[in-house]
Amino acid sequence: VCYDAQYIMITSLTKNVAHDRANKAFVDTFGAAPAAILRAPGRVNLIGEHTDYNDGFVLPCAIDRDTFVAIGPAHNGRITAVAADFDGEIDSFEMGSAIEHSPKIWANYVRGIAKHLNMAGCPLVPVNMAIAGDVPLGSGLSSSASLEIAVGLALAQQAGFSLDPNTLAQIAQASENQFVGCACGIMDQLISARGIDGHALLIDCRSLECTPIIMPAGVSIIIAHSGVHHSNVDGEYNDRRNQCEAAARHYNVKALRDLDLITLEAENAGLDDVIYRRARHVVTENDRTLQAGIALQNGDLKMIGRLMQESHMSMRDDFGITIAHTDRLADIMARALNGQGGARQTGGGFGGCVIAIAQDGDVTKVIDAIAMQYRTPDNMPADVFVCKASAGAG
Ligand code: ADP
Ligand code: MG
Repeated sequence: VCYDAQYIMITSLTKNVAHDRANKAFVDTFGAAPAAILRAPGRVNLIGEHTDYNDGFVLPCAIDRDTFVAIGPAHNGRITAVAADFDGEIDSFEMGSAIEHSPKIWANYVRGIAKHLNMAGCPLVPVNMAIAGDVPLGSGLSSSASLEIAVGLALAQQAGFSLDPNTLAQIAQASENQFVGCACGIMDQLISARGIDGHALLIDCRSLECTPIIMPAGVSIIIAHSGVHHSNVDGEYNDRRNQCEAAARHYNVKALRDLDLITLEAENAGLDDVIYRRARHVVTENDRTLQAGIALQNGDLKMIGRLMQESHMSMRDDFGITIAHTDRLADIMARALNGQGGARQTGGGFGGCVIAIAQDGDVTKVIDAIAMQYRTPDNMPADVFVCKASAGAG
């Protein structure tokens, strides 16, 4: 997977490469041209980490990196998928029978979507599909959600029904939670399905209301990969979710979104210190996310920078999801910006990427600082890319 991710990052420097690889894998495997190619983007979260499954607020944008699914009808009663990014591995399962797990991890993202579309009453048809993407895998940019949304769109399109983006996102989240086994929130799937070109979305994860916020002119998003690959499916992510639920039970609220800082501090007697700090991260992060939405609207980079800094410290000290490498990378990027913007670990945590928001004129400064001062655990320079807020799936 590490090898694939780096390969994807290098090849994707040429746009449309992933699109063409999906097309070619389809033709090579199935001997015909695909009927359609659908895509869904990865995302970067500007701020609002681990708030989504607490019914809170997040501020992501879709990025110009996508998973492509080339798809066409099949005549064998089965769904068959080939993964161009996994050496052309093939997975095939029967339409009619109950869909079981595959030993291939990537295949379970496909099977889960098919199963949960069925469970939602969407009748599927037999298809062949080929998958290729340029979202780096396991890096906190949500290749998993982009794969789920692209597969969901493609299956729906071939079966001739349309799904509204919220329903598609909910089906994809249910599949990742229940079939793949990662207790992720709704953010990744929702922004992949609903992203708007040139905008971030302030998402209320309880109501699913999305408020588009235009990215200020002359501002860039810089993403640097720590070189440490996380795996959401490993227990840490699910542990945090359980701890948040325990805190919500202690304070007798439906979700931590319903807790304010005063109550958090006033009623913490008898609460385990770790659980208390997990809750404090979520409560303060929700506040920071709402403030960041206003700051972004006002083009106030100084304020956004301060909030990102605080978010990183809260993830480090209270939520316990940063690691030494992302701490160091965030510090290097923030110091290069010198208060004119900010940097923080983005995504589920335990590695992955650090994001900075900066004036266009400061981008080179940040990239140079990373090149000079940062090395991955393999003693390599970090992969860095500058991306733009992009449109959701289509
Ligand atoms: P993230 O979502 O941060 O990239 P995850 O661990 O949640 O990391 O999801 C990564 C997994 O999603 C991969 O290991 C793979 O199983 C699946 N996946 C993502 N993109 C692709 C792709 N292009 N082809 C096949 N599987 C993919
Ligand atoms: Mg993921």
